[in-house]
Amino acid sequence: MSSTIQFCGGAGLVTGSNFLLDTGGTKILIDCGLVQGVSAADELNWDAFPYNPADISFLIITHAHIDHIGRIPKLVKDGFKGKIISTDATRALVEPLLLDAHTLLLHAAESHQREPLYDVSDINRAMALWHDTQYHKPQELADGVVLELFNSGHILGSAMAKFTRNGTSIVFTGDLGGGNSPLLPLCENPANLKAEYLVMESVYGDRVRKEDVDRKDSLRDAIVAAAERGGTLFIPAFSTERTQDLLFEIRAMMHAADIPPMPVYLDSPLAEKITAAFKAHPEYFAPEIAARVQGGEDIFSFPQLHLIENADDSQALAKHPNPKIILAGSGMSNGGRALGHEAHVLPDPHSTVLIVGYQAAGSLGRKLVEGAKSVQIFRQPVVVRAHIEHLYGYSAHMDGAELVEFAQHAAEGGTKKIFVVMGEPAASAFLAQRINDYVGVKATTPDAGDTADIDL
Ligand SMILES: [Zn+2]
Repeated sequence: MSSTIQFCGGAGLVTGSNFLLDTGGTKILIDCGLVQGVSAADELNWDAFPYNPADISFLIITHAHIDHIGRIPKLVKDGFKGKIISTDATRALVEPLLLDAHTLLLHAAESHQREPLYDVSDINRAMALWHDTQYHKPQELADGVVLELFNSGHILGSAMAKFTRNGTSIVFTGDLGGGNSPLLPLCENPANLKAEYLVMESVYGDRVRKEDVDRKDSLRDAIVAAAERGGTLFIPAFSTERTQDLLFEIRAMMHAADIPPMPVYLDSPLAEKITAAFKAHPEYFAPEIAARVQGGEDIFSFPQLHLIENADDSQALAKHPNPKIILAGSGMSNGGRALGHEAHVLPDPHSTVLIVGYQAAGSLGRKLVEGAKSVQIFRQPVVVRAHIEHLYGYSAHMDGAELVEFAQHAAEGGTKKIFVVMGEPAASAFLAQRINDYVGVKATTPDAGDTADIDL
């Protein structure tokens, strides 16, 4: 049998994941994400899809990050009426994230002078098309194609999607976790997936992360040092996974008295909703964490934690006595409540901004990491006198060495051909070269719009 894959988005780009598997009789989409980054790239989100959404029977979602789900409501608006399938944990995360993205997209539409990308009613229609599944539950879609999801260890509920027909398989990895979350089980060994074809991510394809001696020790040291300075410790944090990782670790350190007792403010209504979805799906945690949650332990709550709901309370936090810890979005300080806090905290030599994880070029977070002495916030210059610390250890992605190892294991399971996607062109090309040279499997880097034939 023969099928084609079309690389509609997420080829030559980290974001905008969107792949079309056409088996001849059935069209299946894998992910339908927003393009994120510089504003010129954002405009791509308004482009028509390179297929007719009404012709698509299935949309399989690997995980709930917005660059994998953000264009689903547009797909529905443009005529998609098929079935959307993901893990139940992914589904629980999707709705609050799409509603939050809708608000941001309204601002983007205004600045590009375009119609809104979609309405809340399109989100509701998308959710009505959703069907839950879990890992390791093979199901026949149509045309003899069987779908099965496997844990990818990236965020709660994240999955690799495997499609099999007549004994031949292709796996779309989605994003791959490098085992850095204290909450999640490790990514499954791809040797066990026994797939001839792999469409794999390459975000860190050309990088090996700076190793922290110990992630939790680094976090503790940063908190202790910040408390000694007597100011505010501000942590810009992604609402999904990173915030929950940090709350879990800070709670454990408070319990053990490894850090001085001080108030911790979670200033992100979105992160609160995401945390609630995490609590509702303990079966997706690592087994020892799942057992604790199922035994009644609230792994994200502690007496010093205060949840901030409205914007007035958020602004009032600046006047609360120090030392204190504030967590707020966004993770790269691109917007959200983080900016209001940074405008206060950055000029204060007693305060600390703790940046966790990768910061994209052009983001305020990246400028701070690179040692900027002055930045612009709300079009005003803000002098940087606060201590800037950068923790690498909480990355949700495999690094370059781990990706090569992943490909090696896949090859042991029978993988013969790898399409390297979802990376900057240099990162994808570097990873593909290493897979060709060291793993001995043919790896290519398709461009956006390319089509490849496969024997499926
Ligand atoms: Zn992701």
